[in-house]
Amino acid sequence: MTNLSQDKASLLEVDGLSVEYRLKGVSLRAIDRVSFALQAGEAVGLVGESGSGKTTTAMAIAGLLSPNARVSGGQVRYRGNLLSIDNDAAMRPHRWTETSVVFQGAMNALNPVHRIIKQIAEPCILKLGMSRAEATARAREVLELVGIPTDRGTAYPHELSGGMRQRVMIAMALACRPSIIIGDEPTTALDVITQAQILKLLGKLRSQLNLALILITHDLSVVAESCDRVMIMYAGRIVEDGTVAEIFAKPKHPYTRLLIESIPNPASGKRIIRPIPGDPPNLMNRPSGCAFHPRCPSAMGVCATEVPSLEKFGWGRVACHLHRSSQEGRVAVHA
Ligand code: SF4
Repeated sequence: MTNLSQDKASLLEVDGLSVEYRLKGVSLRAIDRVSFALQAGEAVGLVGESGSGKTTTAMAIAGLLSPNARVSGGQVRYRGNLLSIDNDAAMRPHRWTETSVVFQGAMNALNPVHRIIKQIAEPCILKLGMSRAEATARAREVLELVGIPTDRGTAYPHELSGGMRQRVMIAMALACRPSIIIGDEPTTALDVITQAQILKLLGKLRSQLNLALILITHDLSVVAESCDRVMIMYAGRIVEDGTVAEIFAKPKHPYTRLLIESIPNPASGKRIIRPIPGDPPNLMNRPSGCAFHPRCPSAMGVCATEVPSLEKFGWGRVACHLHRSSQEGRVAVHA
């Protein structure tokens, strides 16, 4: 496997992972040979448009794929041990205790008829075998960790603001002391100020608890604030992987460059959003060669016929014919 940190022992190793969905009798490849490693305490952003495969990648790692999905290739290892990610029963002991997920829209994820302290304590009873009193004490601890006064533990979800509810979701995710938190667009439903507070909280918890974070988002600016590293996904594949500093300073893949250019930056006087031309690919009818070629301003003849492999480039990786070692005979087809 090729990754950014292959010299260190990895907390999580994803190697050649492919997942297919069965839809109306047709098999759709949602992710295609995804490989990366995650170190303890590392924060990685998984970025891409809808349908890019970022959520499927994360749900596969957590063993939370939908019933119509199947792992068609590859493997996932946690601390060197192979996970049976397509076996719900085998994955149950790992969820909450090793990997937890914070979903967007906390109101839908929390049970409206139970007090929050009870909901946070529940996984500790089920997963760690704690008594009710021990689990409640742990729930109070994590409430404090996420900045909620413990006397608010008796509140019902509807009595809390959106930001507080998302803090409750983070408290639940932390309750069984996992090493990895997956945030699936955890700030999407929040206003900008609350979003900044939640990202700051995740950053603080990460350094305090040495947590690894996989942050799924369509918003590169969220990654810039909270991650060490970013992996850009397009049509089910990783197309670029590098440190946040490198990728923002010198993006190599044309899609990454367009994603960065689409972020407004009022500080630099750039207030206008420049959307990426064209639409994300239809996975039922995936473009040949590089799936980005119909939208790529740098596309060459070879791009429509050959899938570019993900190759090591400096400290990172990139899948683009522009960055292959041999460039002879390439003619641009778009200006
Ligand atoms: Fe553009 Fe070709 Fe690179 Fe794909 S492989 S991103 S089409 S230049």
